[in-house]
Amino acid sequence: MLESLKKMFSGNEEDMPVNTGSKPDISREKSAELYAKAKTYFPGGVNSPVRAFKSVYGTPLFIQKGDGCYVWDADGNQFIDFCGSWGPLILGHNPQKVREKVTEVMQNGMSFGAPTALENELAELIIKNNKHVEKIRFTSSGTEAVMSAIRLARGYTAKDKILKFEGCYHGHSDSLLVKAGSGLVTFGETSSLGVPKSFAEETIVVPLNDKEALKLAFAEFKDQIAAVIIEGVPANNGLLIQDADYIEFLQQICKENGALLIFDEVITGFRLGFEGAAGYYGAKPDIVTYGKILGGGLPVGMYGASAEIMSCISPDGGVYQAGTLSGNPVAMAAGIAQLTELLRSGFYKELNNKAAEFAESIQRFATARNYKFKVFNIGSIFWFAFTDKDKIQSAADIDPASMEKFKVMHRELLNRGIYLGPSGYEVGFVSAAHTKIELEKAKRAILEALDIVFRNK
Ligand SMILES: *Cc1c(COP(=O)(O)O)cnc(C)c1O
Repeated sequence: MLESLKKMFSGNEEDMPVNTGSKPDISREKSAELYAKAKTYFPGGVNSPVRAFKSVYGTPLFIQKGDGCYVWDADGNQFIDFCGSWGPLILGHNPQKVREKVTEVMQNGMSFGAPTALENELAELIIKNNKHVEKIRFTSSGTEAVMSAIRLARGYTAKDKILKFEGCYHGHSDSLLVKAGSGLVTFGETSSLGVPKSFAEETIVVPLNDKEALKLAFAEFKDQIAAVIIEGVPANNGLLIQDADYIEFLQQICKENGALLIFDEVITGFRLGFEGAAGYYGAKPDIVTYGKILGGGLPVGMYGASAEIMSCISPDGGVYQAGTLSGNPVAMAAGIAQLTELLRSGFYKELNNKAAEFAESIQRFATARNYKFKVFNIGSIFWFAFTDKDKIQSAADIDPASMEKFKVMHRELLNRGIYLGPSGYEVGFVSAAHTKIELEKAKRAILEALDIVFRNK
């Protein structure tokens, strides 16, 4: 998503260089037709920028159907999907349990703008099984959840500034479309037109994995920082896995300075485990935000904290936040059905083992051939990086030139029936619907694609 911001104003890259691979390009006739029409309706032909395939070759594929770990496009091409709607589909596409529950609830109407028992049911599933939240509030997207969490932190602490990290994405609200300024520790610069400079001045941006930068920021903006926000595991600009002692340090410095620590777990929540990255690290964030998996493919977000912090939210407290469709029964039904599956004993162990095996087997191959290629993996999240670094922990560690190799890989994989998110900065997701058979098939395609990428160089 971050990369999409940079690319948003650049030219279209639909041109396809000559195919130097060993497979013909898939047909994209119908997708191209739909895309041409879509461009007359939507800016860039899409309703979210990264979908426009600006960072890879060819026309975006218009998806017609998904089932299990497969998707089919408008031209009838079939793919093993590792995008999973950008994370929500941890059970794969159209899982029976979710579909049945949603269908059942829909018989009674779609939205009331009044409380329903389903909200209690989903809240109970979460609060009973997650020690990081005593009270929660549902929203309709991750962006809204994070935006509201920031307002809550400001309301609770009576401070204005927030601190975020370069390389973390937190949705598209104004205060978070901010990137690092020129100094090591300064307030940020807007990363989108239309964000007032004065908003960016309330957001401090520092590099990940840099304790000194954090210390400097807290010294320079003493008693002004309401909250530090970090992705549970930064996974929107590569997969920047932080060391446990850095997370520990972050927690400590927030505490010392009376700043709240917000874990944005929109990707990692219910992904790394039922308690997300907070559970993984044994961390104690003050506020957590969830989205994606929480809604089982329908639009749901959520923020939560201790009962004390949450008492600031309207109508109990003075921090206003609302939503016409918040907690709507259909979305709640999807969440209930999906989270119920995740709570089955052994669910995460099995999924994470499968993903680790997949990642390791690809890495073994690349290492044996001396390819400058690393598979980073945590839980069921993976990221393909064209690098020889053993660790990539900050945005600056990523070489933008390496993305040219990803473009070739992406095309080769589409030609072999494998769908990855259309940017080398994006991570991939293994779902419970990927069986060993499909993972083996995908692995073989990936190895072939790597051979082509490196033969070309
Ligand atoms: C996807 C994402 C968001 C935004 O969620 P939307 O539902 O797209 O608004 C926020 N934070 C993180 C970490 C995300 O991955």
